[in-house]
Amino acid sequence: MRINILGVGFDNVTLDQAVAEGMRLMHTVGAHYVVTPNPEIVEVCREDQEAMETINGADLVLADGIGVIYGAKLLGTPLKERVPGIEFAQALMERMAQGGEGLFLLGARPGVAEQAAQRLQSRYPGLRIVGTHDGYFQEDGPVVEAIRSAAPAVVFVCLGAPKQEKWMRKNGPATGAGLLVGLGGCLDVFSGEVQRAPEAFQKLGLEWLHRLLKNPSRIGRMMKLPLFLLHVLGERGCRR
Ligand code: UDP
Repeated sequence: MRINILGVGFDNVTLDQAVAEGMRLMHTVGAHYVVTPNPEIVEVCREDQEAMETINGADLVLADGIGVIYGAKLLGTPLKERVPGIEFAQALMERMAQGGEGLFLLGARPGVAEQAAQRLQSRYPGLRIVGTHDGYFQEDGPVVEAIRSAAPAVVFVCLGAPKQEKWMRKNGPATGAGLLVGLGGCLDVFSGEVQRAPEAFQKLGLEWLHRLLKNPSRIGRMMKLPLFLLHVLGERGCRR
């Protein structure tokens, strides 16, 4: 059963359990997709019914942000642990490098996915990256066709939320891939263009602060975090 936080149902899994489930889904007939919402996305879902349906319709909903963990705790239904999308992706690539499953990278500015592919291939020896495409295209058809002909088992879809989730739901089956994972800005990190927060920030749950300091223009988006906590407190009042 999923844990409901302001209408979004989160799977109560550890990182290891999430990766095991990802591997299972990848080898199960049909297209499956994984989403990694943070508090900002939960707030977007509250105002965008299609986004809410798309997120809840995913095969795996992972708690990406520390705010989600606090929210679950405040509501009296704690989640086992935070499962950041980037860590899920890294653990999945380790397993895929052993199993030989193909990976396609979709998203980010032109050139970034190719650069990410090069770095990932040297970081995960044996990882088979079968194709890349940037995230600034007008029509889905040619992109779907490029993925289909590369025949990956998995596609990392990095178009920002909720665009990437809607894209996966609409186009997933036509790509022929078994698993699509929405990963926001991960290709920027994998390519080396953007640094992930130092470990100390990660451990303290302050990764959001690091992103804000590096990129102050995110302040508008980040204001959704206190709003999220206010809504959680309101919800807690209603549930009591
Ligand atoms: N992006 C894209 N196509 C678009 C809009 C965004 O490929 O039409 C990419 C953008 O270049 C960036 C990623 O999507 O690499 C979104 O990154 P952001 O850090 O905003 O995502 P978050 O992880 O916060 O969802």
